[in-house]
Amino acid sequence: MTEPVGERSASAPATVGVHGAHEDRRPGRPVVPPIAQSATFHWGSPADGELRYSRYGNNPNQEQVGRKMALLEGTEAAVALGSGMGAVSMTLLALAEGGDHIVASSQLYGATHALLTSELPRRGVETTFVDPDAGGWEDAIRPETRVLYIEMPTNPTLRILDPRPLVELARGRGITVACDATFGSPVNLRAADLGIDVVIQSATKYLGGHSDLIAGIVSGPEEVVTEVTRLSRLYGPALDPHSAWLLDRGIRTLDVRVRRHNENAMVVAERLSARPEVARVLYPGLPSHPDHELAAELLHGYGGMVGIVLEGGGEAADRFMSRLRVACAAPSLGGVETLVSQPRYTSHAGLGPGAREAMGIPDGFVRISVGIEDAEDLVADFVQAMS
Ligand code: PLP
Repeated sequence: MTEPVGERSASAPATVGVHGAHEDRRPGRPVVPPIAQSATFHWGSPADGELRYSRYGNNPNQEQVGRKMALLEGTEAAVALGSGMGAVSMTLLALAEGGDHIVASSQLYGATHALLTSELPRRGVETTFVDPDAGGWEDAIRPETRVLYIEMPTNPTLRILDPRPLVELARGRGITVACDATFGSPVNLRAADLGIDVVIQSATKYLGGHSDLIAGIVSGPEEVVTEVTRLSRLYGPALDPHSAWLLDRGIRTLDVRVRRHNENAMVVAERLSARPEVARVLYPGLPSHPDHELAAELLHGYGGMVGIVLEGGGEAADRFMSRLRVACAAPSLGGVETLVSQPRYTSHAGLGPGAREAMGIPDGFVRISVGIEDAEDLVADFVQAMS
């Protein structure tokens, strides 16, 4: 490997996604980085330099995608790990130890919520949840608070939370603000520009973009990323070199894909809003969304996720899903193919109907990860499935 050519600062995501740090442009070197599909690397003694081992996170493909992500997020450093949950858990373990306290949004991905409520307390880390609609962040902060943890846009109601007042609260108190920005991707949500310290991505979603890999990214200050890397060497959520390579390949088309997801989702949201079978459409790009104005101010695109509530409740949603011909009934999101799921069976299965209803997820709620297919084909598919 050679040094990056010059210190090019992060330019537009489209350029960074394709070229990363403009690495190794010597004549004869491949334009596409080769896969170092190797667990270990020749090394006999410290005289041979850094000891490389793919669990350590210093496989060339892991490092290359980490460098690209730091540029893309606009942070000092980034590390690529074996899953989004690997990224979430290593971040929280890096930032909080026994006796420390976390203040978290109550609107979180289910596994993150479970980590905070069931696992971290066993290690002496307590969490206070704040409902972003009710507020009360400052009151929840204690002297031992180390992390403010949020997610945006949220799953599945796509709520947007203004992180800037939280960043203000954290300053001077030794508190790190961490945000799971998976639903936004670095194209739609420039989290570090809003003052967020640590940005987490489930790279399984938009970054990979093809539903063919599991990965996670932690981007942030060098100090935090170094600690996440150290812990990952112990806990072991390493990213496989082939998946790192696939992820880098996915990131090259991130900008163009996300723009298309944004466009298609707007078409789907607008067209389904006009359907009598649809009681409600949730999309941050629609003026009817509770956070539309904030989304317009904070996001660079409204995203590829759309929520619809079907008249006829759960039965209508089951029927809709079983009739889809273009879109796929499957959990997850962010792939080129449209993926449709019902939160009552997936992310929010652990809650009763009443609790889900209170969160704005009644039976009949269908989550659509709008892909990059032709928008008219998608609308036609949805209309035939609900008619
Ligand atoms: N964060 C969010 C917002 C998610 O939606 C998911 C998965 O759906 C994760 C984290 C976990 O990512 P992974 O499945 O890559 O571990």
